[in-house]
Amino acid sequence: MARSVLQGYRLKTNAMTAQPTPSDLHPVDAEYMRQANRWAMTARVRGNRPFGAVVVSGTGEVLMEAYCNTTETGDCTGHAETNAVRQLSPKVSREVLARSTLYSSAEPCVMCAGAIFWSGIRRVVFGIDAVSLRVFRGELSEQRDAELSCRDVFAASPHEIECIGPVMREESSAPHIGFWKT
Ligand SMILES: [Zn+2]
Repeated sequence: MARSVLQGYRLKTNAMTAQPTPSDLHPVDAEYMRQANRWAMTARVRGNRPFGAVVVSGTGEVLMEAYCNTTETGDCTGHAETNAVRQLSPKVSREVLARSTLYSSAEPCVMCAGAIFWSGIRRVVFGIDAVSLRVFRGELSEQRDAELSCRDVFAASPHEIECIGPVMREESSAPHIGFWKT
């Protein structure tokens, strides 16, 4: 799928909810979102928090797939998006990164939004949003996140970072059902 297909593609939103409906999501974006969600389930099966990410080039090549491996590695920075960026950025040029899309099963946290900024990736599609995710995370302190939207981080960037989400909320919520401690 050529970059030109997705470049500048904007989701239509439902005027009542301001949420994109599944039929408005580009089929290519939907396909890679499903892939990111599958990696979230892989993370969970392996004992980690259920998050996944996929990076796709502007020419439709899957450049990197990653999942959250904080429990497996003991590395608190091992989030899916940061893992994807860390592994990918030494391997490809800034130009390739600038034309790539990062798909994340959930809204990137502050750290991952920062990693995406530093990578130069300029398009992000995410599943469940951080506010909805907090319902699953609950009130336990070790499960709470820093409550700053990735959009606030991206808005501080001197280059534009297109951000689409939440999308496919039901599918993106599935990995979290019954996972978080209450
Ligand atoms: Zn993160």
